[in-house]
Amino acid sequence: PMASSEMEAAISATPSDSPTIFDKIINKEIPSNVVYEDDKVLAFRDIAPQAPVHIVLIPKVKDGLTGLSKAEERHCEILGYLLYTAKIVAKQEGLEDGFRIVINDGPNGCQSVYHLHIHILGGRQMNWPPG
Ligand code: IMP
Repeated sequence: PMASSEMEAAISATPSDSPTIFDKIINKEIPSNVVYEDDKVLAFRDIAPQAPVHIVLIPKVKDGLTGLSKAEERHCEILGYLLYTAKIVAKQEGLEDGFRIVINDGPNGCQSVYHLHIHILGGRQMNWPPG
């Protein structure tokens, strides 16, 4: 099958530690549909939803965490907190029949934004294996 334009964009995105669009979302410089926020993390609806519920969950402080492959031991606390928060958000969104958590990493993983983020997808039967 042909690669979608989102896939093409992701594959050609250059991994870097530069500020991303997510910094602008954190700083409220651009609008987003926030569903959960606390001092450490922010969750907002994906602008190009791939399921009835599609939320992006990010740490507010990037601290070099452009992606999971850049994780260091100092990131363990925020990584655990992100997963715990994903569960809170899934429950808040009414996904009691289940949901999918995705972390895309690097070009092969179709990562397009180099600020670590967890996708929370649900509201329909998800497929396996993923594409
Ligand atoms: P990635 O492809 O795993 O890097 O995920 C990045 C996600 O961020 C994609 O699903 C995009 O649709 C989403 N995204 C990019 N820009 C925005 C935005 O401004 N608001 C909400 N979601 C965004």
